[in-house]
Amino acid sequence: MAIRPILILPDPQLRLRSEPVREITPEIRQLAADMLETMYDAPGVGLAAIQIGVPKRIITMDVSKSEDERQPLVLINPEILWASEEKRTYEEGCLSIPEYYEEVERPDRVRFRYTDLDGGTVERDADGLMATCVQHEIDHLNGVLFIDYLSKLKRDRVVTKFRKAAKREAAGG
Ligand SMILES: [Zn+2]
Repeated sequence: MAIRPILILPDPQLRLRSEPVREITPEIRQLAADMLETMYDAPGVGLAAIQIGVPKRIITMDVSKSEDERQPLVLINPEILWASEEKRTYEEGCLSIPEYYEEVERPDRVRFRYTDLDGGTVERDADGLMATCVQHEIDHLNGVLFIDYLSKLKRDRVVTKFRKAAKREAAGG
């Protein structure tokens, strides 16, 4: 396994729409293993493949609270089947937008479907952090970031901040 560099806003790859996975090859298993390692190292509760520059519809998640009882999940071609009318507000962050947190309102509960690493189809219901996380990560596969749900003023402010930081880094400062 290997820890891979995480793309940071405003990297244009973060706006790509990821392609479905057609077949679970050894390369896909390796990618999933690397994503989990990268996610735990960050540390984060979710990661989409595009965040390490791979435009494939794969996400990893682990919303367990304790490091001793890890519950790693690999979701291939995930999709939301149903979302509740009731909403929930959660303070979200993103490994591609480090140290920035804002409240986002999303459906409180969702049902989702995905293919697991054995090629099986899994359907699950989620609420709480897992519901927020799976919606946030599936958004990544469609080139959507959580800052897209904020007011234009807030979004422009954070994009400008990260653009300046990227320029400074490119200048070697
Ligand atoms: Zn994210």
